[in-house]
Amino acid sequence: MHVFRVPSWIQALFPQAIWRLPSPEACVYLTFDDGPHAEITTWVLNLLDQYQAKAHFFVVGNNARQWPELCQDILDRGHGLGSHTFHHRNGWRSETSQFYADILEGHRSHPKMGSYFRPPHGRIKPKQARWLRQNGFQLVMWDLLSGDYNSKLSSDRILWQLKRKTRSGSLVVFHDSSKAEAHLREVLPAYLTWLTQQGYTCLPLPHDRD
Ligand SMILES: [Zn+2]
Repeated sequence: MHVFRVPSWIQALFPQAIWRLPSPEACVYLTFDDGPHAEITTWVLNLLDQYQAKAHFFVVGNNARQWPELCQDILDRGHGLGSHTFHHRNGWRSETSQFYADILEGHRSHPKMGSYFRPPHGRIKPKQARWLRQNGFQLVMWDLLSGDYNSKLSSDRILWQLKRKTRSGSLVVFHDSSKAEAHLREVLPAYLTWLTQQGYTCLPLPHDRD
């Protein structure tokens, strides 16, 4: 079963994380993990421009180092750039010291990387979350996980769930990766159209400290 929203008791374990930014305005925060990817990220950026939508990109350091110009393009178009480790490392399965080293390397993978950090697969221990805070990172989780990477879901089902569960201030996870591409190309334009019809504005995450 795909869990679109993380249960509140898990959210309570990470009080320092951003899960959702409730607002009286109808707004959502779109986020894209695992890029940048030459074709897919460019396609996403062009689509977001068409809808005047802003987003935050949590890039894998290894990709960011390979595609610095794509990272710059993300920033030039008014989106945020956050990190997602260097090797897409899982905090539950990694040696803690290795995990920290990978986070720091990911942060250094682009000179304009912001302080927002999202752990791969959302897997992080409370101790690691405290380390992030002590080292100047802001932990960013999500309110809705689209499941765009999941081949067992249909695009229709993903879109239906997103429409059903979106609420003001939702942080929504997509992936600008080849694994998610098929769903992303179907779901994202339809979701953006729906958001516009519903009066939602897609905002960048509030400015981070870097
Ligand atoms: Zn990821």
